[in-house]
This record gives sequence, structure tokens and C-alpha cells, in this order.
Amino acid sequence: MTPASFDYMSPISLEEAVQLLKKHGDDAKILAGGQSLIPLMKLRFTSFPYIIDISRVSGLKFIREEKGKLLIGAMTTNAELEFSETVRGHHRIIHDACSRIADPLVRNMGTVGGNLTHGDPGNDLPAVMIALRAKYTLVSADGKREVSAADFYKDTFVTELKQGEILTQLEVSAPGKLFAGAYEKHKRRTGDFSVAGVGVAFERKTDGTLKNVGVGLTSVGPVPIHAAGTEKALEGKVPDTATIEKAVDAVKSESRPVSDFYGTDEYKRFVLGELLKRAISRAVRRTSGGD
Ligand SMILES: Cc1cc2nc3c(=O)[nH]c(=O)nc-3n(C[C@H](O)[C@H](O)[C@H](O)COP(=O)(O)OP(=O)(O)OC[C@H]3O[C@@H](n4cnc5c(N)ncnc54)[C@H](O)[C@@H]3O)c2cc1C
Repeated sequence: MTPASFDYMSPISLEEAVQLLKKHGDDAKILAGGQSLIPLMKLRFTSFPYIIDISRVSGLKFIREEKGKLLIGAMTTNAELEFSETVRGHHRIIHDACSRIADPLVRNMGTVGGNLTHGDPGNDLPAVMIALRAKYTLVSADGKREVSAADFYKDTFVTELKQGEILTQLEVSAPGKLFAGAYEKHKRRTGDFSVAGVGVAFERKTDGTLKNVGVGLTSVGPVPIHAAGTEKALEGKVPDTATIEKAVDAVKSESRPVSDFYGTDEYKRFVLGELLKRAISRAVRRTSGGD
């Protein structure tokens, strides 16, 4: 099918983009890589009279470390993140997720900003950003504000992003030497969204205990889930068998999967528990330079 007709706009500055959004209100929609929006428009699940393509807006595509933080521009593609030396070096959890999104064609076009703002609980990067305690910068014609990844997701396809706002960048604290993270997902075939996914990040102190634990979940509820109970089960503990079993119990009880063609809710909880174990042990290996 073809989409309903629309006016196409292609601003070259952020100021121009936010003014267009303000002018056209609810009739306008941002287009980034088009990997989620265009299929929805072609299927006529959605339509907008004005499409504002932000791919020519300058200053939205970057990956840089600054004052102890990792900053990523919203128009950075999933493939650019996947192949970034900075990301591979210090933020392997982001590489884990980006390298397993869909297929290379989708990763070449899809952007981090689109992945984070679409509000699809099956998108992989929100769980990673929740685990990393990332902050999102939202800009509108009326100003700028920051929202934490954990507070951003309200319901399926409903986020904290207000009409007129554009996500411009996300910010992650640069990790100390003992910090590591890992993202694990299970999908049935290449190109599928996950049955379940889990991102874990923490510092591992010299006595072996975990500190500043972050856990985010994919595809096991109506939103990307901030798994605060699982974090609590791991915080301050040595990740031995007993602790990991408690964390698995916690993650199963705070996930909210539903049965669908990917599997039953019970199966998804089981998969999630196994993925959590793998993510913890991979992150632990990484804190000592492995994997
Ligand atoms: C076949 C297929 C398989 C896929 N599998 C996966 C998968 O396994 N895991 C996964 O994580 N993703 C998957 N995706 C999604 C893909 O990874 C993209 O990240 C995602 O489509 C959104 O990025 P985009 O740049 O294409 O956004 P678009 O499609 O352009 O936009 C999506 C939404 O985000 C809004 N938006 C985009 N950028 C901004 C911004 N900067 N500020 C405010 N709003 C904005 C748009 O208005 C729109 O509502 C898949 C996509 C396809 C087509």
C-alpha cells in the first residue's frame, strides 16, 4: 500500500525544525530513519498531513566523550553505533544491542533517536539506556529539558515526549575502570524483534560486590521496563549463585509479558531469567577485561 498524501518538509537547522513542529502542531510528525514510521504509514495505521524529515538537520549526528560523559546525537544510526570504536571500547552493552537490531539494512537507516522515542517495547535500545541511567535531551520552540530514560516510557507507543519536542541527544556517564554492562536478547530468526531482552550494567568493586546496578527489559511488558526490584536484588552483593537466583526471581515477578506468537508468558519469563544470568556473567567477565 502507499501512504496517505502528506506535505514533506526537510529543515536544515534544529531551530527551523522546532518552529515547523510548533506551527503544524498535532498535524506534524518527525521522520528520522523511517524504519518504523514509514511501514506504519504505508499500512495506513497512521497518517499525518505534514512530515518533517530531520535527516538534513545539522548537529544531530555525533558520538563523543566529553567531560566524563558519552554523548550521542539522535540522528546517529544504529550501524554507526555498532561500528564506533568509542562504543566498542567503553560501552560494549550498546554495541551488544545495536549489532543485533534487525538486519544491516535496517541498522543503516534506523537512528538511535527513532529507536528511543518510538515507544515500542520491542525496541532494544531503551532497555540499554535504562540500565545505563541515560538522560535524554528534548528540545522544542519553547526551550530544552532533560528526562531520564527510566522516566521516559509511559505506555505502549506513549512516551514523555510532548508535542513539539525533538530528542536531540542522549547522555551516558562515562564508566570507571570497574564498570561494565551487557545486553542479551533472544529472537527466533534474524530480522525478528526479540522474545525477550535484558540489559545489565554495574560497577564491580575490588571485593567483588556490585554497585550502581542498572537493569532494563525489552519485549516483556507494555513498555521497556526499569527492573528496580532486580537491581535491588543485586546491589551491594557478590553475584554468586544464590544472589543470581534471587535476581532471576525478581526479574520474573516484575516483568509483564503476554502470550503471543513469540511464546507464552510463562516461556518468556523463563527466557528472561536465562538471559539475565547470561548478561550478569558476561558483564562480570568484562569488569576483569574479558569478553
Ligand atoms: C524489519 C524491521 C525489524 C526491526 N527489528 C528491530 C529490532 O529487533 N530491535 C529494535 O530495537 N528495532 C528494530 N527495528 C526498528 C529500527 O531499529 C529503528 O530503530 C526504528 O525503526 C526507529 O528508528 P528510525 O530512525 O527509523 O525512526 P522513524 O521510523 O523515522 O521514527 C519512529 C518514531 O520516532 C519519532 N522520532 C524519530 N526520531 C525522533 C527524534 N529525534 N525526536 C523525536 N521523535 C523522533 C518519529 O516521529 C516516529 O514516531 C526494526 C525495524 C524493521 C523495519
